[in-house]
Amino acid sequence: MIFTAIIPCYNEEENVPDIYAEILKNQAYFDSKGIETEILYVDDGSRDGTVSEVKKLMEKDERVHLVSFSRNFGKEAAIYAGLENSKGDYVALMDADLQDPPSLLPEMFDLILSGEYDSVATRRVSRKGEPPIRSMFARLFYRLMRKISKTEIVDGARDYRLMTRQMVDAILSLKEYNRFSKGIFGWVGFKTKWLEFQNVERRKGETKWSFWSLFKYSLEGIMGFSTAPLAMASVIGIFFTFIAFVAIIFIIVRTLVFGDPTSGWPSMACIIIFMGGIQLFCVGILGQYLSKVYLEVKERPIYIVKERL
Ligand code: UDP
Ligand code: MG
Repeated sequence: MIFTAIIPCYNEEENVPDIYAEILKNQAYFDSKGIETEILYVDDGSRDGTVSEVKKLMEKDERVHLVSFSRNFGKEAAIYAGLENSKGDYVALMDADLQDPPSLLPEMFDLILSGEYDSVATRRVSRKGEPPIRSMFARLFYRLMRKISKTEIVDGARDYRLMTRQMVDAILSLKEYNRFSKGIFGWVGFKTKWLEFQNVERRKGETKWSFWSLFKYSLEGIMGFSTAPLAMASVIGIFFTFIAFVAIIFIIVRTLVFGDPTSGWPSMACIIIFMGGIQLFCVGILGQYLSKVYLEVKERPIYIVKERL
């Protein structure tokens, strides 16, 4: 039985040896269950010494593998590449920075080997060490997603999860270009057990996600797993048509009763600008979806490999 640990890395030279050592701390457990380990680093176009660090490990240990991208394609692409290149009967995704504690692996394996679950996922129940604004927006995002999407997206869910080969193959069958794994995991279904843990802070290096990139990531999630914004445009349209209808009747009646003193130009200008704004906003939403469709129909590869060892 083979277990593959997939580690997406973008400029993680300091963490590469650490995560390797931490995973192998479970060696005694793996041996007792007859689990062979494969550690697959996916280098997402790092500009530092990540690749050479991995190669150093490969010289010592043949269980280490590397897929290296031609440029930075993003974590979602790295996850996809990792799953596609993994050989394991069981596969886990984990961050290089040790925010996904490898010490949970035995517990996760116990659960999955019992045969009751197809996947053991993790969520952090605290966000200590994170900027408060970031936590606030994250919470808001999950609350919104629960309302507008049919796919279950769990608050605080990490990408850290152990899956059976069957589930991995299901995920790989979703070949969409605009990937949002947190949604995809839920979408493919299967029985998932959630483990909870307290947030662990990144051991070394810096986070690769700025506020802006997280914002774009959340839009990716909303547009990938909900069409509510499109429906919202129609609702706004119907609402304002109704208001306009009431206003027309009001004006006709007023003109008939009081005559027609020509006035009201400033308010007219405000209304026109307001309506113009709403219309552009709705066209913008449409444009966002259209741009996703555009990228999807191009059928570009999700990632390009420079080196596979
Ligand atoms: N990562 C990646 N490509 C990217 C950004 C991040 O492969 O473009 C990897 C990164 O190396 C790390 C994981 O994704 O292993 C999580 O990134 P990070 O710790 O920066 O995110 P955070 O934990 O702050 O959300
Ligand atoms: Mg991290």
